[in-house]
Amino acid sequence: MILVMLFWVLAMVSGLCWARWWTGMFTAATLLVFLWTQAGTLGDWAGWMQLAAFGITPWLLAAQQARDERRLKILHAEEAEAMTRLSETARSLMTLQTSTQQLEKEIGKITDLYHVTKDTGRALRLPDLFSASLEMAPKLLNASGLRLIDLSHEEPHVLRASRTNDGRMISSPNGGAAGHILDMERAIITRAVTSGAATCAGPQELSCELPAGVSRVAWSPLWREQKPIGVLVADELPAEQLSTLSIVANQLSLQLSRIHLYQAVESLAVTDALTGLSVRGYFMDRAREELARSKRHTLSCTLLMTDLDHFKEKNDTFGHLVGDVVLKDVAELLKRNLREVDLIARYGGEEFILLLIETDAEQAMPVAQRLKQLVEVHPIRAYDELLTQTISIGLAAYPHDAQTLETLIERADQALYAAKRAGRNRVVAASASPTL
Ligand code: GH3
Ligand code: MG
Ligand code: MG
Repeated sequence: MILVMLFWVLAMVSGLCWARWWTGMFTAATLLVFLWTQAGTLGDWAGWMQLAAFGITPWLLAAQQARDERRLKILHAEEAEAMTRLSETARSLMTLQTSTQQLEKEIGKITDLYHVTKDTGRALRLPDLFSASLEMAPKLLNASGLRLIDLSHEEPHVLRASRTNDGRMISSPNGGAAGHILDMERAIITRAVTSGAATCAGPQELSCELPAGVSRVAWSPLWREQKPIGVLVADELPAEQLSTLSIVANQLSLQLSRIHLYQAVESLAVTDALTGLSVRGYFMDRAREELARSKRHTLSCTLLMTDLDHFKEKNDTFGHLVGDVVLKDVAELLKRNLREVDLIARYGGEEFILLLIETDAEQAMPVAQRLKQLVEVHPIRAYDELLTQTISIGLAAYPHDAQTLETLIERADQALYAAKRAGRNRVVAASASPTL
């Protein structure tokens, strides 16, 4: 019986821990030993019951064990699935966090750009536009210097700024004036206008020296209706910020074209359409300022009142269109032969008014004579006609002849009248007799 029990225990253990065939073998061995040693007990039902118990229990245990293993496997599989789901959720959370951070960065950039637009949107002049850009640009562009080039003039205007140690952008004192353009700025203008896109380059590509401390420059052209109107230049800009430079340049394009339009409207209001000279009102304002300045600094200035001689005859003979060309030609000639500081305007129909700054009557007389002679010898081509024209000039000086603008004009007018009476094509000073 001990042997039966031993095999039975082995069958039970194998049912729990080992492979199925071990259970089969030990169960068979248990039953065989039982039959062999306990055959006598099979006479009654208790013996058969014992035999059945020895044969079935290891299998029941094995079946239970198999069920438990299956359940465990299912549990493991479910656990693995949950883990996978968990790590997927963690991954998407990370992605979400990264894109939130990116989004926040983008929002920051857009906010800064919004401020650039808002602050620069108020500017009506180029220096104001540049100052407003300098407030916000350092937040968007990690450049060591900025340059804004305005191409609306014959000679480009450049405004420059450089970064200070505390990270601010400060306007350079020499910026803004025309005619002070560096070779590298000229090279950039040419490249920007032809290439049309945001680019960066070093001295080799530009074939010219860069300012001290600058090894590379980036630029982006400013466009209006496919025409280049300016260039935004950033010194030492990291390459990955080229697209931001282009966005800022786009914003500035809008603001710069608005400034150009404003200037055009402003100049239309002060410019005579036919001759291109200033209009009378504008002249009067500027002349008053000049007189006040002359008073403050005890300086002289001289007013010339000019009138075309026998102009009515020209109109009557050749027509108004020819008359217009004559008027325009004389105006251009006078303007061309004055200094930049002097003022000139169309005062009336065929009358021009001039103010020679820091010039007394004695100095003004040869100037007036020269202007009169220039007009006299100047051939005018008007349509099919080749004409000449003469002018008469009345001259009055501050402070010698008059103290206010109105009386100065009056004295110059009287002198002009005297010049007409004396035979025209001459200059007469308010203080003197007619001069040929
Ligand atoms: P004077 O030598 O005395 O100044 O003679 P004038 O003929 O020049 O003088 P007047 O004042 O009689 O004539 C001025 C003429 O200028 C009359 C007018 O038709 C003409 N005029 C004024 N404005 C214009 C203009 O914009 N275009 C043209 N074509 N003619 C103009
Ligand atoms: Mg006239
Ligand atoms: Mg007249």
